[in-house]
Amino acid sequence: MDNKKLVIVGGGAAGFFCAIQAKENNPSMEVVLLEKQNKVLQKVKVSGGGRCNVTHAVEDIPHLLKHYPRGKNFLKKVFYQFGPEETIAWFAQNGVTLHTESDGRMFPTTNSSQTIIDCLLNRAERLGVQVKLSSAVTAVQKNDSGFILTVNHNEVKADYLCVACGGYPKSLQFDWLRKIGHTIIEPVPSLFTFNIKGNKDLKALMGVSLEQATIRIQSTKVNDIGPLLITHWGLSGPCVLKLSAWQARTLYDLNYEFSIFVNWINQTEHELREEWNTIRNDMGSQSFSKNPFGLPKRLWLYLIEVVGIREGKKWSELASREQNKLIAILVGQPFDVQGKTTFKEEFVTCGGIDLKEVNPKTMESRVVPSLYFAGEVLDIDGVTGGFNFQNAWSTAAVAAGLWA
Ligand SMILES: Cc1cc2nc3c(=O)[nH]c(=O)nc-3n(C[C@H](O)[C@H](O)[C@H](O)COP(=O)(O)OP(=O)(O)OC[C@H]3O[C@@H](n4cnc5c(N)ncnc54)[C@H](O)[C@@H]3O)c2cc1C
Repeated sequence: MDNKKLVIVGGGAAGFFCAIQAKENNPSMEVVLLEKQNKVLQKVKVSGGGRCNVTHAVEDIPHLLKHYPRGKNFLKKVFYQFGPEETIAWFAQNGVTLHTESDGRMFPTTNSSQTIIDCLLNRAERLGVQVKLSSAVTAVQKNDSGFILTVNHNEVKADYLCVACGGYPKSLQFDWLRKIGHTIIEPVPSLFTFNIKGNKDLKALMGVSLEQATIRIQSTKVNDIGPLLITHWGLSGPCVLKLSAWQARTLYDLNYEFSIFVNWINQTEHELREEWNTIRNDMGSQSFSKNPFGLPKRLWLYLIEVVGIREGKKWSELASREQNKLIAILVGQPFDVQGKTTFKEEFVTCGGIDLKEVNPKTMESRVVPSLYFAGEVLDIDGVTGGFNFQNAWSTAAVAAGLWA
């Protein structure tokens, strides 16, 4: 593969990882990375709140795959070639150690995304990767000898092309890929929080968090369980983000207007009714300022107020009408969602290059030979926790393996 030229479109995590690995595998190949902005690795910089959640500590690949609403089957073939284990080892070999937080998220021990940026930039420079800034690719043509790219009204030739231009919730970004023959699954946002309509009361609960709550979308069996956070605009936290990711397309189709039920105690109505007498007996003559469910005090007081129960009332005085209302609200308080808000500016794109048109063993296009893809440009996205970068590292490494 000597004297051949690889051009990579996109100076993000996937583009850099691919460029570095391609050069490591084939030092004599010319590797050029084109970035449309005047800076590279911008998302890495802001990722994980400035700490960069590089990957996730997982038991094995089947567990890892459960975190991808889109791309699971495709990634299975990718991760067995290059997964979190190989990613952690690669960063360690390049001087970056990672630590694991209690929820499994892995960050550089420096807790700074700059460590990842410095690592990638230094390695790319040492290997001789040519990075060209302010170089937006606007068209691509394929001929018998390779590719001709239009970059700032100039032509750039390539023997191999790797597209790692990220995701974007506007399909315009993908026009030049469509023209070369690829199908784009319509991009829509994933990973967002829910704005609650008329959230005056909820606003007073801002900052209240639960370790576990369940949210169900009305008229569906779709629900998710996980930590929940009440914010000044509505509901957030991993439970909401996961639901937004798994239902990204459905919620887009609903124009982000739908109803949900929040189960504050993660019990079914049947389960709660079965133990209700025991609860009442245990609470006896205590007042309603005490709650037997371990809910945060502010939330509990809000719930009994919605039902119309005075804080000073005794459990033994609870009327059956109030009891039914309380049970109903505990296992499924309804809320109307109206709009979405990005979580700490973090979002990923649901949609992108149709995976049917890419070979997961090589990342080569099945439509255009010698064209490769890596990262979020593909119709792959994960929930929060380091899974999106893992997609970038893994697809990039597999693409780069081809030029070994
Ligand atoms: C605020 C925020 C925080 C995040 N935090 C995390 C986290 O901690 N952990 C995690 O796993 N994921 C996180 N994510 C998601 C993660 O950052 C992305 O999934 C990942 O960066 C995708 O990498 P990529 O290289 O495929 O795409 P990108 O990082 O988007 O890089 C693509 C690059 O291509 C360039 N480009 C696009 N079109 C062209 C063109 N035509 N010509 C030339 N260049 C072009 C773009 O300018 C960009 O620099 C976060 C996302 C955001 C927005």
